[in-house]
Amino acid sequence: MRFHFPLVIIDEDFRSENTSGSGIRELAQAVQAEGMEVVGYTSYGDLTSFAQQQSRAAGFILSIDDEEFGAGSPEETQLALAQLRAFVAEIRRRNVDIPLYIYGETRTARHIPNDVLRELHGFIHMHEDTPEFVARHIIREARSYLDGLAPPFFRALTHYAQDGSYSWHCPGHSGGVAFLKSPVGQMFHQFFGENMLRADVCNAVDELGQLLDHTGPVAASERNAARIFNADHLFFVTNGTSTSNKIVWHSTVAPGDIVVVDRNCHKSILHAIMMTGAVPVFLMPTRNHYGIIGPIPRSEFEPETIRQKMLANPFCREKLEKDPHTKPRVLTITQSTYDGIMYNVEEIKGLLDGHIETLHFDEAWLPHAAFHDFYGDYHAIGEGRPRCQTSMVFSTQSTHKLLAGISQASQILVQDAEHNRLDRDVFNEAYLMHTSTSPQYAIIASCDVAAAMMEAPAGTALVEESLTEALDFRRAMRKVDEEYGDDWWFKVWGPDDLTDEGLDHRDAWMLKSGENWHGFGDVAEGFNLLDPIKATVLTPGLNVDGDFSETGIPAAIVSKYLAEHGVVIEKTGLYSFFIMFTIGITKGRWNTMVTALQQFKDDYDKNAPLWRILPEFVSQFPQYERIGLKDLCQQIHGIYKSRDVARLTTEMYLSDMTPAMKPAKAFAKMAHREIDRVPIDELEGRITAVMFTPYPPGIPLLIPGEVFNATIVDYLRFVREFNGRFPGFETYIHGLVAEKVNGEFRYYVDCVRPEV
Ligand SMILES: *Cc1c(COP(=O)(O)O)cnc(C)c1O
Repeated sequence: MRFHFPLVIIDEDFRSENTSGSGIRELAQAVQAEGMEVVGYTSYGDLTSFAQQQSRAAGFILSIDDEEFGAGSPEETQLALAQLRAFVAEIRRRNVDIPLYIYGETRTARHIPNDVLRELHGFIHMHEDTPEFVARHIIREARSYLDGLAPPFFRALTHYAQDGSYSWHCPGHSGGVAFLKSPVGQMFHQFFGENMLRADVCNAVDELGQLLDHTGPVAASERNAARIFNADHLFFVTNGTSTSNKIVWHSTVAPGDIVVVDRNCHKSILHAIMMTGAVPVFLMPTRNHYGIIGPIPRSEFEPETIRQKMLANPFCREKLEKDPHTKPRVLTITQSTYDGIMYNVEEIKGLLDGHIETLHFDEAWLPHAAFHDFYGDYHAIGEGRPRCQTSMVFSTQSTHKLLAGISQASQILVQDAEHNRLDRDVFNEAYLMHTSTSPQYAIIASCDVAAAMMEAPAGTALVEESLTEALDFRRAMRKVDEEYGDDWWFKVWGPDDLTDEGLDHRDAWMLKSGENWHGFGDVAEGFNLLDPIKATVLTPGLNVDGDFSETGIPAAIVSKYLAEHGVVIEKTGLYSFFIMFTIGITKGRWNTMVTALQQFKDDYDKNAPLWRILPEFVSQFPQYERIGLKDLCQQIHGIYKSRDVARLTTEMYLSDMTPAMKPAKAFAKMAHREIDRVPIDELEGRITAVMFTPYPPGIPLLIPGEVFNATIVDYLRFVREFNGRFPGFETYIHGLVAEKVNGEFRYYVDCVRPEV
């Protein structure tokens, strides 16, 4: 496999016509003659962005010829040296292995300080050897560097894909050949490219190892990732963290077991409850009136509080009466919520070690935390973290959400306890239960590569860049706000005080009691941290206490506007929307966001007509054609305000949910069709058979077996009215069935049929 990595030369005279620079040009020609590409630059330009060349270079040659080094003037020499030193440091901050050479015609190593020399692979003193000899030496080093890059599975897969063996095994497209026999197949082939299809093989290929029983190169890669993430065990999963969560659960939970679960958990955890037949006890997170979900208070994690919750649950009580020593099997919490709230894991371990068998942190949004000191103990597993005595710690991570995995790339990390080690064979029985027997090898390769990319020091540099960009975005938004003075502008949710530059100290991002910005009231000291890379942007109209102002801008309109201007955002709430700074984010991207928001403001202030600024939307919904942007915002704001929607949703999520039936049983009722389709007005008191999830926020409100209360029904009446009035801005609720009768929508929920 030939990869495209040129040698980068930086020399002021690289392009000049005179004799100075002839030596380096001869060297460049010799390198090219040996089959390696060369790219020449005449200056470093912006150091930090130039150093990013390390990701696509085979090596660097940095010239220190007389011209660069000031031809004798001490000041200029000092300046050139400082630049060289800074450049080498920038490279090494990200990449400790890439070959670096210094090139000099008259100068020697004597002129270069030790701290720079130490980082070099060599000093090229031209005219002493032939260019060909020097070129071969450099190429050997560069090739050996490139050969060391690929982690085990990715390496084996690239070799397999290129060695051209004829396969008789699945998949049936045979390395892509099947596609070539049809015109639309040809299109598919051209779009995805030959390598993707050649690398799409099945697990009959011995030399690649097996994901399902963790052998060969796959196992070597899992071990490599375990080392990089500092876990005792690490398993790649090719069907998302949704599946990772179910695997963890099935490895430890059986029917009737009591489990302790974050009420703000991902639906895959609720699915796991139904699949395992567990009895859930919920820990309740706080919520502010922006609709942002806050931390579960520390007091909820006290073993005694959990015991009281168990006693209050009719299904747990039964179990406790039979065996008063019954312990919950697993605790699952969302570690880093959508909006970026994290917990101090060591405190939770301290509280619950020995009280709950398995402590499971759903870190779908947090795989980056292990690579930067900023996150300290606010993630589950990492370097130097103490073990529990008896509880095992699990973390499930979506490598595709914040690292460089492709969709569905996920991993399970395990930290053994002092007196309780993972039995890998037993664990694997649960793993097999949820894993396809035909895993997608490109996903495995991306798990492998996503981990290798985080190897120190590169991983730290990548995470630091996300953090820095996220902070720069926040600063830029504040600067715009200051310039507008009394005029309105968007705010980014977060602590009031930011430093002017660089990375903030962790303490600035801790949630503290008595600080108003978060709106979560009392928060135990040192218990929660906000991840700066998650940025919730607040639109005007609602404050943290739930009070509406006279005018307002519902976020749904902003996100529609942004989408039509080519900016697609992750999640929209009532008066907030959310963006995140992954390791893939760039300055260009967030700057575009800032300008797009400025355009929005401009169009809003002018009350620009929708037909002009949202043409695609208006072509779908012509009823908005003649409305102005400001007027539309005001109409929707008006109905939110008159119905006090922020308080209504908060109260709804914090209202008492009564379990009338085990979740698995309610789900079974659906499988057996022992359900009724109940209209909204008759829902109060009925038991839902489906998971009931409003978007936003996409957090399940009711799980199968729970009862509709009056607050929820109130909210649904509001949704019905709102959806009728503002087509195109409908609140979508999973579990709410819409049927059109005489041109009007009627809404129903599938509920358990009462037993007679
Ligand atoms: C996205 C998400 C998951 C599921 O991850 P996938 O990789 O999309 O299957 C699980 N838990 C949380 C908290 C998530 O946000």
